[in-house]
Amino acid sequence: MNNYISKRLTWLGLVMCCAISTNALGQNPLGNVELSIQHVQGSVYMIMRPGGGGNIGASIGEDGVLLVDSLFEPMAESLVRAVRSVSDGPIRFLINTHVHPDHVGGNEPLRDQGVLIFAHDNTRSRFLLERNRYPRQGGSFAPQPSAGARPEITFDSEVGFHVNGEEVRAFLAPPAHTDGDVFVYFPESDVLHLGDVFRTTSYPIMDLYNGGSLRGTIAALDLAIDMAGPNTKVIPGHGLEIVDRNSMIEFRDMILDVRAQVLSMLREGMHLDEVMAANITAGYDAKWGQEAGWTAIDFVPIVYYELGGSGRLEDR
Ligand SMILES: [Zn+2]
Repeated sequence: MNNYISKRLTWLGLVMCCAISTNALGQNPLGNVELSIQHVQGSVYMIMRPGGGGNIGASIGEDGVLLVDSLFEPMAESLVRAVRSVSDGPIRFLINTHVHPDHVGGNEPLRDQGVLIFAHDNTRSRFLLERNRYPRQGGSFAPQPSAGARPEITFDSEVGFHVNGEEVRAFLAPPAHTDGDVFVYFPESDVLHLGDVFRTTSYPIMDLYNGGSLRGTIAALDLAIDMAGPNTKVIPGHGLEIVDRNSMIEFRDMILDVRAQVLSMLREGMHLDEVMAANITAGYDAKWGQEAGWTAIDFVPIVYYELGGSGRLEDR
């Protein structure tokens, strides 16, 4: 068994043992998770769960509350409690950065409380599919979200929210994580929420089932880096750290380095298993290989195929 396949089997074992499910009493363990809230800068806060996946941005001030993403449905009560710990104002708006369940799961309970939900057209279109496919667990399927979870207002390029003393801008990014990725910029607070295009704990996920791409990931990060100044705070989609422009540059440069190495191996005619055996991410794994469900063995093949590599491991 080569190293790549043995790592893959290890990963599958991890996924199987750690799959989220209801327990014997029918309770969803996600409902027991307590979210925390942290001030970022200006009017913006970050609401996070232990481990930091699906980080929520929140503009909180005299006009009420605008949320960016809604985590998993069972966490909705805890999400509202986190907001209430700093504000009694109405939760008015919710922007979904993309379609994944850890970013839209709280939509329906929030909508039931009168929150208006916004997303890109491409994101809403996937709420209408009978089932959705996601990159983790080798392309797992998830059932259709309920009708009540669908964003009510969609846009094709950009929308502005004039709240809490600034024009919050939500706009379509190049197709990176999905083809409905929305970045949200809070200009006076000087905070960027990049959804899952940027993460501090894992390699980038290019969700090929939902329109993501390597090329778009690099373009989207370039755009975010261009927008950010020295004092800009950045909320990553995954990871507990609030970071800055330099962290985005480091992440982008890692991707460019991996891309360049894979390209050079392709030009030498190397097959995917030879590329994987070369372990080109060894110097990066300690930083970006922290999420068991998405490591170099998931990331590097996507780079390989998007750069024109062909064939599958079993073809040899
Ligand atoms: Zn995602």
